[in-house]
Amino acid sequence: MPVKTNGGPPLKTPKPRQFGGGLLILITLLLLLNFVIPSFGPRPPQIPYSDFIAQVQAGKVDQALVGNNQIEFTLKPDPNAPATESQRPRIYTTTPVAVDLDLPKILRENGVEFGAPPPNNNGWISTLLGWVVPPLIFFGIWGWLLNRQGGGPQALTVGKSKARIYSEGITGVKFSDVAGVDEAKVELQEIVDFLKNANKYTRLGAKIPKGVLLIGPPGTGKTLLAKAIAGEAGVPFFSISGSEFIELFVGVGASRVRDLFEQAKQQAPCIVFIDELDALGKSRAQGSMFGGNDEREQTLNQLLTEMDGFDANTGVIIIAATNRPEILDPALRRPGRFDRQVLVDRPDKIGREAILKVHARNVKLAEDVDLGMIAIRTPGFAGADLANLVNEAALLAARNNRQAVTMADFNEAIERVVAGLEKKSRVLNEQEKKRVAYHEVGHAIVGALMPGAGKVEKISIVPRGVGALGYTLQLPEEDRFLMAEDEIRGRIATLLGGRSAEELIFNNIVSTGASDDIQKATDLAERMVTLYGMSDYLGPVAFEKPQAQFLEGYSSPRRAVSPKVTEEIDNEVKETVERAHHIALAILDKNRDLLEETAQELLGKEVLEGEALRERLNRAVAPPEMDTWLMTGNLPEDTALMQTTLA
Ligand code: ADP
Ligand code: MG
Ligand code: ZN
Repeated sequence: MPVKTNGGPPLKTPKPRQFGGGLLILITLLLLLNFVIPSFGPRPPQIPYSDFIAQVQAGKVDQALVGNNQIEFTLKPDPNAPATESQRPRIYTTTPVAVDLDLPKILRENGVEFGAPPPNNNGWISTLLGWVVPPLIFFGIWGWLLNRQGGGPQALTVGKSKARIYSEGITGVKFSDVAGVDEAKVELQEIVDFLKNANKYTRLGAKIPKGVLLIGPPGTGKTLLAKAIAGEAGVPFFSISGSEFIELFVGVGASRVRDLFEQAKQQAPCIVFIDELDALGKSRAQGSMFGGNDEREQTLNQLLTEMDGFDANTGVIIIAATNRPEILDPALRRPGRFDRQVLVDRPDKIGREAILKVHARNVKLAEDVDLGMIAIRTPGFAGADLANLVNEAALLAARNNRQAVTMADFNEAIERVVAGLEKKSRVLNEQEKKRVAYHEVGHAIVGALMPGAGKVEKISIVPRGVGALGYTLQLPEEDRFLMAEDEIRGRIATLLGGRSAEELIFNNIVSTGASDDIQKATDLAERMVTLYGMSDYLGPVAFEKPQAQFLEGYSSPRRAVSPKVTEEIDNEVKETVERAHHIALAILDKNRDLLEETAQELLGKEVLEGEALRERLNRAVAPPEMDTWLMTGNLPEDTALMQTTLA
């Protein structure tokens, strides 16, 4: 781990820390005094209100001071009392039951001298305490909190995080320390190049991207990659985490962003790394459900302003990381901001072996250790899990007093790490893996035949967290703004391709894995019918109000329609999905050999991509009814629906 070095510009001398602490102690003392002072001296005894009234009516009360919460009264001297008795206190207090409006009358009738107590008689000290102490406490706590959060000596210097140093200096991490993410490295090499010889680019007027967004699941090496870029280029590395920006006090986050960029610009060329960008850049539309988070918005706005405000050629490059790209504010991805996105995915088998090699460099391995074998046994492991695995194995070997780490140690370590991971994410067993493979190939084959959806780029059964067990990546050939009817139909069929493959191969025993697909397919079908007016039967009538269209799984209120129309809508949606389902099944049935073959290969390699994948998918053939369906949305008259297990 790199040591934090003071690489920053000269900074203001921070205020001494004891000030905050001393103040707190003083405040506490004053506060105690405030409660203690009035209780000095003997307190008059308290008696029940009813007794007080009885005493008044018996004519024994001399004077009464009637306060809001308390009545203090003096008894007349008792002439019959013995000498000792007269020593007894003659002043008592009582608490009125409620505001007793009859009390003045009773008192007057019994000749009691009465009045209200004088306003607070503690004098200047209580005034001082009352007015001065609460603000002091407030500021004291504020300062203390800031102090604690900032980790720096800055009590009571609210918002001024000047003392904070974001620079970690030269990281010393190299690209060779990061393995299994070769594609990302190729893309990032350009950034390194620019940082190293800025002149070469600026001379030609080339603009380098200002912001790079690293997208990928936790532990895949995003932070490590960012450090490696800085290390390769030999430039300082500034880092801060998105969640750190979210402070209790409005304005602090924004001022931190300002400071960070100020410091960075002075040390350009350099890298500014923002981890957990999603904590900061959550879509404003989403966050505003409960009035939004002003602080986050301010911070985000400040970040956008800073990014827009400087020239990329100043040599400050901002790298951010997130594992939830889908919730990011779209403004962050605009040109001139994080317009370059690099996927840092979980490694495949070969990648895992490479990562194991990196981490085994510092470990003494026994002859029998086969890193390739370990890679095979660790599907779904991210880089951090593999690093953990090597360390765990080394610990086991040490515990057993071995000279070197053996394969047996690794095997035991795998079991331990898997057990830990099973709680966190998912590691698939063989049967599940097989199902996911067929499911994904199902998507791919159907997708390959559909119009306008773009090429199927990649199929993977490397699990990606709890949600997706595998995935099929389809890249559009161009930016799309409109989707034609047949393309939406194609999309629905593609979504159902996964589930359909499972039905075919596993004899109709389907799994829960396709629920997200089915959700999306149904949503699309519903939109076709209710929003885009694409149902022949219901006509071009919008039943739905287009509100939250930018969200995939939106749900907007339907226009008021009759129950009959509602039923028709439901029917249309169901039929739309069912026809697409039939087509998906028909395609896979016709290409069953291809499905089998591709799925088996995927099971072996975990990832299929590029030309090899395309060549396979090009062999897919369409069933006869597909064209009619694409054009009209209907199946030819004589078609018998293959299966309609969908609810
Ligand atoms: P992320 O930022 O994506 O959550 P990190 O970069 O913090 O992941 O990774 C944590 C640790 O896991 C790293 O310090 C490194 O030891 C190990 N690691 C993760 N990915 C890789 C990788 N691709 N190659 C080598 N080591 C890795
Ligand atoms: Mg990280
Ligand atoms: Zn699916």
